[in-house]
Amino acid sequence: MDAQTFRTPHANPSARLSGYATEPPLQRFLTGCYEEFKADNSGAVADYIPQLKQANPDHFGIGLVTIDGHVYEAGDSAVPFTIQSVSKAFVFALALELVGEERVGAAIGVEPSGDAFNSIRLTNDNRPFNPMVNAGAIACSGLIHQVEGDGAFERVRAKLSQFAGRELGVDDAVHASEAETGNRNRAIAWLLRNYSVVQGDVDAVLDTYFRQCAILVTARDLAVMAATLANRGVNPLTGVQVITPHIVARTLSVMTSSGMYDYAGEWIYRVGIPAKSGVGGGIVAALPSQMGLGTFSPLLDDHFNSVRGLKVCEALSARFDLHMLNRSADVRTCIIADYDVLGISSRRSRQPHEQQILDERHGDIRVIELVGALNFAAIDYITRRLSSEPPNAPLLILDFRRVPDLTAAGAQLLGENLTVLGNAGVTAIITGVEATSAVLPAIRARVGDPRKLRHFAVLDDAIEWAEDQVIYRYGGFTISKETAHLGEQALLAELAPEEIAALAELSTTRRYETGQRIIAAGEPANSLFFLQSGMVSVKLPSGVRLASLGPGMEFGEMAIIEQHRSADVWADTDVKCLELPLDAFADYRQLHPQISMKIMRNLSALLARRLILANAKVDLLSAY
Ligand code: GLN
Repeated sequence: MDAQTFRTPHANPSARLSGYATEPPLQRFLTGCYEEFKADNSGAVADYIPQLKQANPDHFGIGLVTIDGHVYEAGDSAVPFTIQSVSKAFVFALALELVGEERVGAAIGVEPSGDAFNSIRLTNDNRPFNPMVNAGAIACSGLIHQVEGDGAFERVRAKLSQFAGRELGVDDAVHASEAETGNRNRAIAWLLRNYSVVQGDVDAVLDTYFRQCAILVTARDLAVMAATLANRGVNPLTGVQVITPHIVARTLSVMTSSGMYDYAGEWIYRVGIPAKSGVGGGIVAALPSQMGLGTFSPLLDDHFNSVRGLKVCEALSARFDLHMLNRSADVRTCIIADYDVLGISSRRSRQPHEQQILDERHGDIRVIELVGALNFAAIDYITRRLSSEPPNAPLLILDFRRVPDLTAAGAQLLGENLTVLGNAGVTAIITGVEATSAVLPAIRARVGDPRKLRHFAVLDDAIEWAEDQVIYRYGGFTISKETAHLGEQALLAELAPEEIAALAELSTTRRYETGQRIIAAGEPANSLFFLQSGMVSVKLPSGVRLASLGPGMEFGEMAIIEQHRSADVWADTDVKCLELPLDAFADYRQLHPQISMKIMRNLSALLARRLILANAKVDLLSAY
């Protein structure tokens, strides 16, 4: 194959890449829905509001907004239409926010009526059945009117605009048309006035309601509004917390039981996504923690639900298995790793006698690495794992680095569990929680003695601290000794005393103060160091620690095989070391090749040990 043939048909590889990148499968699916269902011309546009007869029956738009704020659109997703009853869900949320659950509950029920949207029937105690039918929605307008007076409609418009993430306007012609002909709604409002569910100026309340129904939206807007509900009240495009999560749950509840009028039961059975429809042809559907869908097609079925909109929802739910009651999760996946520190020590290299204690007591430190958003079931699973096998280690490290979210209930359960473990003598250490995150304060608030709950930003630091505790407990801490004697250096193992003495001759004693940088990444690597007293840390310029070293250990030894320093070395304490320049060593090596061989063998052994440790960590994590 010559180069020419090889390059066709994709002469420009980046064009090929972007072609691939612009068509996610969900976009293809939505475009496919649009193409397929636009051929369905069944149903009829609403005609009981004269102005709605003007709707173009061909219009068909789909919007879908993900929780991370990605917007999918197909067809006439930018065509404005009146929101009508879809507004009821959002106005109910506003009423809850403005007057509180108690007053809303006293005025309006939450039972499905089984009747059409415009039914005049009330419950036995003369309340509207629920806020998703006209009677309930008019009652909501009444409550908002009681608080806001003449400002009621503007308050509604502003709230819906926040949900949509843009300023929404009103279709004055539709508003006037409904105001003129809406005698049935007028009858409902006066009936509610009779039972004091609506108070004050009934005409003003009705006007607020009619105007709210005439707010103009697009399918895209509805998708953003739905996504805001799906995202616990935070608009995923603007980041604004539009409504509290508590109110979101109440709103989605009534959408679930009553959002699709007298088709609600069928709807939740078939589609399983909280939704609300309107006679303008709109449907919103919000699937918590996943996505918001908005559809627009004015052809309605006998229940006044959009025919094509229903089809999109049904197809989406079936194709992607979205029924909200058909969920499962394996809670066990929230623990990605659970280990003691055998072979997985911190990056602090220990003195031989310290290492021996750690090798014997490795089971005293237990590390549990968690992953994912921790909900009730996940935390319950974790607390059960903590309370049962294996027998509790006195030092317990919980790593939250991969945990984006912990529910309040989860923090409570975990806090209680850590308190019990604390009373049994376990020291708990939390790692990987961002300083700004609410997770740590939430757990702290629930443990008996918050000072006992330790926190380290980095897991490795926590393991090192825990190792120090173990070493200390078993008497391993000695005053850091001077190791003037080069014979104790691992790199110089097996060298004869006179060979070591000769190397010492070539070296110079260096001293550094706490916090001083001894080696900088990128510098030419032309010497190696033998640490005689104090502690140093090898760190990448990003701050990640590769190793901490004490007396008797060498650093900069990679200079033997590399031209430049690959990391920084910092003095953690005051440090004394011997620096051996490589050029002097090279000359010496010519004269004593057998020394060079021994050192290279020692270096290979050191590197092999590091590799084994690194492999052990990789292996441990891939075992989960
Ligand atoms: N404005 C309409 C009405 O009250 C809203 C009804 C609806 O969308 N189902 O009749």
